[in-house]
Amino acid sequence: MALTKEQRKEQKREYAREDYHKNKDKYKRFRATKELREYMKRYREKHKKYFQEYKRKWHIKNRNKIIKKAKKWKQDNPERNLKLEREKKKRYRSNYPEKIKAINYAHINNQRDDNCSQCNSIIDLEFHHTDYQNNKGFTLCRSCHKELHKGDIIAT
Ligand SMILES: [Zn+2]
Ligand SMILES: [Zn+2]
Repeated sequence: MALTKEQRKEQKREYAREDYHKNKDKYKRFRATKELREYMKRYREKHKKYFQEYKRKWHIKNRNKIIKKAKKWKQDNPERNLKLEREKKKRYRSNYPEKIKAINYAHINNQRDDNCSQCNSIIDLEFHHTDYQNNKGFTLCRSCHKELHKGDIIAT
């Protein structure tokens, strides 16, 4: 016997009720996690600055650990690392064309001095840019240059 529209609706509702009762805990859990996720999202949004600062400080504090771990991973995965490095360079080139231009300019025009402006070292000299658009900067040795960029966030 065919059911009327109203009866079919009632049957569906009955199924839904049964399903709900059978899986009550699951649904409750789902709602809880969903609400919690939403809440956490809002919370993070509201305290964005604090979280960013926390992350930055964590990076600085764990700097050596992070570097060590990355080094080990690179040694264990040389091929994947090479590929990632290439992709990174490519991304960098397309993201910062003005920086690449300035770096090339510095090389071609020999902008580097003969010694580090910080410690007077004459080896491993690099040019630190303060203004990429106008090709401005000064000469640093590798270790002073590293020191200067130490406060920067490490890109992961
Ligand atoms: Zn620099
Ligand atoms: Zn130096």
